[in-house]
Amino acid sequence: MRPQDLIEKKRDGHELSRQEIALLIRGYTRDEIPDYQMSAWLMAVFLNGMTEAETQALVEEMLYSGEVLTHSDIPKPKVDKHSTGGVGDKTSLVVGPVAAACGVVVPMISGRALAHTGGTLDKLESIPGFRTDLHLTDFRSILKSHGLSFIGQTREIAPADRKLYSLRDLTGTVQSRPLICASIMSKKLAEGIDGLVLDVKVGRGAFMRESADARKLAETLVSVGKRMGKKIVALITDMDQPLGRWVGNAVETREAIEMLQGNMSGDFAELSLDLAAHMLLVGGIASDLESARSLARDAITSGRALDTFRAVIGAQGGDSGVADDPGRMKKAKRVKDVVSESSGFVTAVATDEIGRMIMDWGGGRRRLGDPIDHSVGFELHAKLGEHIETGEPLITAYYNDEHRFDEMQARIRKAFHLGESPVSLQPPIREVLQ
Ligand code: URA
Repeated sequence: MRPQDLIEKKRDGHELSRQEIALLIRGYTRDEIPDYQMSAWLMAVFLNGMTEAETQALVEEMLYSGEVLTHSDIPKPKVDKHSTGGVGDKTSLVVGPVAAACGVVVPMISGRALAHTGGTLDKLESIPGFRTDLHLTDFRSILKSHGLSFIGQTREIAPADRKLYSLRDLTGTVQSRPLICASIMSKKLAEGIDGLVLDVKVGRGAFMRESADARKLAETLVSVGKRMGKKIVALITDMDQPLGRWVGNAVETREAIEMLQGNMSGDFAELSLDLAAHMLLVGGIASDLESARSLARDAITSGRALDTFRAVIGAQGGDSGVADDPGRMKKAKRVKDVVSESSGFVTAVATDEIGRMIMDWGGGRRRLGDPIDHSVGFELHAKLGEHIETGEPLITAYYNDEHRFDEMQARIRKAFHLGESPVSLQPPIREVLQ
C-alpha cells in the first residue's frame, strides 16, 4: 500500500484498517510521508469522518508513536484536564495548581494556539523564562516535588500529535471529531494518568458550534478513555462568548494568577472551580461535588494553589515573582478603548472572530515556528446579556501596531451584536457526561 492508495480509499468514503492507519501515522512521524500527502489524507478524514474502530486505531497509533509515561514512584492519583479549545480559556493555569495543592498529581501535556483558539503553552510562555520544552527527567522531577508540571508534545511523547497538530492548523482540518479526539487522547493517555476531566466546548468560539456535535465529541472522548481503562468525565461547556474578561496570552495568564490570588468571580471562576472539583472527584480526593468544590476554593483562599504555581514557574525556569506581581510580564505599548456606536443589550459575540483578531495582531502564528507577541490582548467590557450605552467601551485593546488600529476597531465593533432586550443566558456548564 502506498500513501496515495490510502488517501484515495478515505476520499472515497471507505473504512481504513488498523494496519493502514498504522502505516500512515508511523510513516508520517518518521518523516517518510511528506506533509502534502498527509494534508490530503487529513482533508479526506475531515470530509468523510471515521468509524469508531478507525478512531480508536488512530488514537492508539498516535499514542504509541512515542513513550507512554508511568509514575509508579509517585503514590498519588494522577489526573489531568483538557479542553477541546476555546477563546479566553485559561482554566488549565488555575485547575492545575488547585488540583495539585489538593493532593492530585497533574502531568499536563498541552498544546499551542490552534486555529482561532488559544494554547496553554503560549500563555505560560508569556511568563519571562518559562520553559515548556523540558527534558523528561526534569518533567518527572518537578511532578514529584510539586505535583504539577506543564510541557508540550515532544519528540518522545506524542510525537505524531506534535506534527499533526501543526499541520491541521495550517490545512483547515482542525474541526474534525476523530482528529480532535485522537489529538487530545493520544497526548493525555501518554501522560501516565489514572483519570481525565474533559472540557468540551460548544458555541461560536468552539470547534463544535452545535450541541449535538459537541455531545458526539464528548461521547467519543469518553468511550475512548474508558476503553483505555481511565476514569473519565466530560463537561460540555459554553463557548458562545470568550471565557472571563481577558483574551490574549499575557493578559489571560494575569487573569488566571488573579484568580489564584483570590478573585473568584464570573464564568471563568465558576468553570475553573467545577473543573478542579471534578478532578478531585476523579482522583478520589473528595466523594461528592459540593465537598470537592469547597476543597478547591480552600486551596485558593489559603494561598496553597498560588504557592504551587509560584514553585512550578520557578522550577520551569520562569520568573516566579510573576505569581505575586503579574505586571512583570511584557506589556503592549498601546492601550485604547473601542467604544460602542449604539446602545443595547449584548445578544451575540462573534467569539471566533475575537480569537482571530488576537492572532492577526500577533498573538498567534501564521506558520509553525513563527514568534508570537505575548503582550497583545483585549479586555472585554461587554459580556452577553449586559447593557452598553453609546460611547461606552466594548473592549480595551492592548496592542503594538498603531497602523492596524482602525481596521481592528471596525472588526471589534462588528463582532458585538446589540439588541433591545436581553438574551436568556446559557449556564457555563451545560451537561456532564461520564
Ligand atoms: N486540543 C487538542 O489538543 N487537540 C485538538 O485537536 C483540539 C484541542
